[in-house]
Amino acid sequence: MEKTVQEVRLQFDSFSANEGFARAAVAAFAAQLDPTVAELSELKTAVSEAVTNCVVHAYRDTIGPVTVTVQLLDDRRVVVKVRDKGCGIENVSRAMEPLFTTAPGEDRAGLGFAVMQSFSDLVKVRSSPGRGTVVTLQKTFSPRRRDV
Ligand code: ATP
Ligand code: MG
Repeated sequence: MEKTVQEVRLQFDSFSANEGFARAAVAAFAAQLDPTVAELSELKTAVSEAVTNCVVHAYRDTIGPVTVTVQLLDDRRVVVKVRDKGCGIENVSRAMEPLFTTAPGEDRAGLGFAVMQSFSDLVKVRSSPGRGTVVTLQKTFSPRRRDV
């Protein structure tokens, strides 16, 4: 088992202005692993999609807490967990299908999970209707030049 080198935990309210905060904070922390600009920008985009889903779907007509945990592991893996206590997802595999959205009239493309999947190595979703959702994103950064 890889060891967690260190971990940070953020909690904020689901105002859309905090999407940018979460993505920047995760990137600032993960930057300690010295990833490439492209890797960091992929991670930011994936985190941003997960947090946006909390804002627009989990707490649809309300504001609630979003918790983001970032773990840096000693194998250069970053594990990000985005948790909400919102409405939950009834059918996770359907929700993860490209183009599936429950908000078609609101400019939603149904591509958030597809983006998370293409920019991460692994996406896991645990959800219970009425209780909330946890999205886990894993991404392994390439070896640093001085490690090669
Ligand atoms: P886009 O991300 O392209 O703007 P979208 O958010 O609808 O559109 P996805 O991010 O792929 O697309 O999510 C698919 C669906 O999964 C959403 O329409 C919503 O029904 C559900 N969903 C996703 N995340 C959550 C969440 N945290 N809580 C409740 N429902 C969610
Ligand atoms: Mg989305």
